[in-house]
Amino acid sequence: MPLNEAERAYAREYQARWRAEHPERALANRQRWAAEHPNYERQWRADHPLSEAARARKRETTRRWRKQYPEKAAKNWRQFKETWNPPDLKQRQRGYATKWRTLHLQAAHEAQQRYVQAHPEKIREKRLRRVARERGTASESINPQAIYDRDGGRCHICGKKVPRRKASLDHLIPRAFNGPHLAINVRIVHRSCNFKRRHLGPAQLLLL
Ligand SMILES: [Zn+2]
Repeated sequence: MPLNEAERAYAREYQARWRAEHPERALANRQRWAAEHPNYERQWRADHPLSEAARARKRETTRRWRKQYPEKAAKNWRQFKETWNPPDLKQRQRGYATKWRTLHLQAAHEAQQRYVQAHPEKIREKRLRRVARERGTASESINPQAIYDRDGGRCHICGKKVPRRKASLDHLIPRAFNGPHLAINVRIVHRSCNFKRRHLGPAQLLLL
């Protein structure tokens, strides 16, 4: 026989009292039950969608909480980023980024400009790899610092030490001759040496 309203209220109160008196056991029960029903909460939320107003209230509460507890919020966010790892994560992130850019055209443009100014070498590499793709030549992302360390910071044309700010990457098989943009095909050179040699010169001899 189903309980009537008064009996249900009594049961609820009784349980609440029991939980207050046995907090550890109550927590353990709750966790065990959640482990046995992993999808229950998600399913319940899917079956009981919030109204637009309720969602807005919730967003506002969350926003205020984050402002009040910035450390806790940062920690939660870190944990979330570490654990939330769906198989299509990259695709989703690209989707969010695209959506954000369409909603914030001006800010997106400014961010892009800042990025271009802060990372000229990345922009150059991007262009380089695009051209390589179009020509059907192999390419990979190259970290100039790694090449600098590999070559001992020495210019492969004149053999002298290259200060980091005067260094540039030279393609042994020039890109003009479909040389691949791969770590094995680049050497550290003085920008000035690279410029003097252009795409012809002694580098080809090193390959023999
Ligand atoms: Zn040099």
